[in-house]
Amino acid sequence: TDAGLVTESLPADPATIAPERDLMSKFDALIAERQALIDTGVTDPFAIVMQQVKSPTEAVIAGRDTILLGTYNYMGMTFDPDVIAAGHAALDQFGSGTNGSRMLNGTFRDHIEVEDALRDFYGVSGAIVFSTGYMANLGMISTLAGKGEYVILDADSHASIYDGCQQGNAEIVRFRHNSVEDLDKRLGRLPKEPGKLVVLEGVYSMLGDIAPLKEMVAVAKKHGAMVLSDEAHSMGFYGPNGRGVYEEQGCEADVDFVVGTFSKSVGTVGGFCISNHPKFEAIRLACRPYIFTASLPPSVVATAAASIRKLKHAHKKRQQLWENARSLHGGLKALGFKLGTENPDSAIIAIILNDQEQAVAMWQALLDGGLYVNMARPPATPAGTYLLRCSLCAEHTPAQIATVLTMFAAAGRATGAIG
Ligand code: PMP
Repeated sequence: TDAGLVTESLPADPATIAPERDLMSKFDALIAERQALIDTGVTDPFAIVMQQVKSPTEAVIAGRDTILLGTYNYMGMTFDPDVIAAGHAALDQFGSGTNGSRMLNGTFRDHIEVEDALRDFYGVSGAIVFSTGYMANLGMISTLAGKGEYVILDADSHASIYDGCQQGNAEIVRFRHNSVEDLDKRLGRLPKEPGKLVVLEGVYSMLGDIAPLKEMVAVAKKHGAMVLSDEAHSMGFYGPNGRGVYEEQGCEADVDFVVGTFSKSVGTVGGFCISNHPKFEAIRLACRPYIFTASLPPSVVATAAASIRKLKHAHKKRQQLWENARSLHGGLKALGFKLGTENPDSAIIAIILNDQEQAVAMWQALLDGGLYVNMARPPATPAGTYLLRCSLCAEHTPAQIATVLTMFAAAGRATGAIG
């Protein structure tokens, strides 16, 4: 039988391996911790399934209609009719996949089209698309900074930035989160001659706080460093052209590389880096996470291109998104929740809770009531905090925000998070 084949194909238990040599033994503590959480009777926050997705703001989870307030679908592009039509057409004309690297057979018409759309959106000469934003950071950081050179990064940087540092051979220097002074001090201690890359993020995704990019970029330039800004959580709604925090703060002329993703405002999957550097194209020849993986499917790059072309003119959506961020932030603050930022600085609003127990209880109460938010915990969060992270969409309606606030009030009182 089929079942028989499956069980015989690989060993089902590691009986032949001594526990001390079972490489999976190192996960015992993690498995026990997760089991302890499940044993309290809660839904596993890291095993949610979207059974049906009705719109950018509504899905069916565990058989229940649920408002989505924990996705990165900031601009609500996933159901845009032009985006969907572009994906259908590419699927019909080019098939389901590329079966190869961008370097060889994996560059199709729409990989070129999406890179053109990015050049146009950002007003730059160079754009390179990667298979994810994670890989764009991994590839750019490890390829740009080599042996004997330096990467200087914010302590609260995204995992993909840390992993890019690990993948490369450069010396790594961390500075205190968003501290212009500490960045200046650490750069000042480094030898003058070697090349340096300062890596910053426009919006830090755990607390939703923004970087003082203008000051930081000025300090980096003073010390002769190049700058890469990860604008994953700002594309589409900061600055006159929606390019990001670096545009909003007026430091476009001093940022050498911008990394971004298609998985948030663009509404599909993929990553990219843009630059005006005259030698930028050489990255394609040297960057391992660009070369040694298959390129994105034609339908994905076609949807990304259509979405980016529309985002350029999405002024009304931008306005709606900011209105939503202001009304949710104001409402939660008025209820007495402790928030990650004093003001609605981004489309991410983080609620800081006392401990895991309170965070899980509140998360569960919200989910049972038909609201999905992200639960975030160490090591992803700064300073060992437990967070419920809300991320807004331009498509959330005032009625949905009002419902969300009612749910938060009830859950917050039931769990003691607010008085
Ligand atoms: N950079 C930042 C700041 C991110 O938050 C993320 C994803 N959450 C990424 C990069 C990676 O993006 P992707 O989902 O495209 O891999």
